[in-house]
Amino acid sequence: MDFEHKISVLGSTGSIGTQTLEIAREYNGIKIEAMTAYSNAKLLEKQAREFLPKVVSLTDESAAKDLKVRLADTNIKVLSGKEGLIEAAVIDDAKTVVTAVVGISGLEPTIAAIKAKKNIALANKETLVTGGHIVTALADEYGVNILPVDSEHSAIFQSLQGCKDTNEIKRIILTASGGPFFGKTRKELKNVTPSDALKHPNWNMGAKVTIDSSTLVNKGLEVMEAKWLFGCDNIKVLVHRQSVVHSMVEFVDNGVIAQLGAPDMRLPIQYALTYPNRLPMKNNELDFIKYGSLTFDEPDTDTFYALSLAFDAMKCGGIKPTVFNSADEAAVEMFLKGKLSYLGISEAIEKALDKIENIENPTVEQIFEADGASREIVYGM
Ligand code: NDP
Ligand code: MG
Repeated sequence: MDFEHKISVLGSTGSIGTQTLEIAREYNGIKIEAMTAYSNAKLLEKQAREFLPKVVSLTDESAAKDLKVRLADTNIKVLSGKEGLIEAAVIDDAKTVVTAVVGISGLEPTIAAIKAKKNIALANKETLVTGGHIVTALADEYGVNILPVDSEHSAIFQSLQGCKDTNEIKRIILTASGGPFFGKTRKELKNVTPSDALKHPNWNMGAKVTIDSSTLVNKGLEVMEAKWLFGCDNIKVLVHRQSVVHSMVEFVDNGVIAQLGAPDMRLPIQYALTYPNRLPMKNNELDFIKYGSLTFDEPDTDTFYALSLAFDAMKCGGIKPTVFNSADEAAVEMFLKGKLSYLGISEAIEKALDKIENIENPTVEQIFEADGASREIVYGM
């Protein structure tokens, strides 16, 4: 099949970024116009020499200087800082921007990309959690698609192909692996170390999203992400240890449509790039016999109460989802540095949510103010 697509990859050195490049390697028709990272000059240089984008950018200024020296013999333009990230997001010719950076840093480049009429292949869930009201309104205004890369949301999106009336959706069923601490009590989690929490049973992901999966904060963020992507806040979370049913939609007639597959992010990434078409994928077919049975459990919201906090934040809306997200970003950073206990992550989120007053329909500026305020509360713990 002939397939041509020019893209920009924000966060190309990360887990989603490198898997996006694997797909581009497979399909010559996918051409990369720009790629960015935070500070990994060595890997970005290697990627740039392979994919020959017009522009690369590193947010960290001194790493960008290093990259400039490394790429001095090429015609590739090397940018830096937040401005460089935004320039990569709006680069001419790219039709789709893959947002695979971590955290709230994804919000501004995504807004810029939408205003430049790019479709968004959205991995960075924090964009919708913090600025969902702004981003979805802009996507409507500029007539661009937001195509989910997150596996659960891709599953819902795939399950909705053929649904002509969203009033027919009764609820969304988001599946969760349950992470490495499924079945544990709070008492048993008291002394969890970063290396314990970084061991995910089914997925190999960046550090932040792996820790978030273990606390069920990731599922909480995904609940908020789903609300914005599908306009439905009737969302049920089910623990499904095998990560084979990637999520489901229940319709008003009680019919349930699910998308299944081996746990492999390349499919949702590829579908976001090839939608509405499907292209062949090498390896990793779903082997039903290997799994034998698929199980479903209620999430334990006593032990993993950040999930309940996320539902509350979603219901409140306004600035609360940003407070939830930013407190978690700061808490995970502290936990990874050994400055906060594992259980302290949920406590930090709760504390920030309690302390910061809600604001309805926050502007981007108010979102970043709340981001700073929640981080300050957590850093002070
Ligand atoms: P990684 O940590 O593996 O990669 C993050 C990428 O973003 C790297 O290229 C990193 O550069 C860059 N980056 C980090 N911080 C910043 C910053 N402040 N400003 C600009 N760039 C930055 O993350 P993942 O790929 O795991 O996750 C990316 C996003 O996708 C997250 O929002 C996550 O929730 C979401 N997601 C990830 C899944 C997965 O399987 N990994 C599944 C579903 C969603 P550098 O290498 O230089 O640090
Ligand atoms: Mg997910």
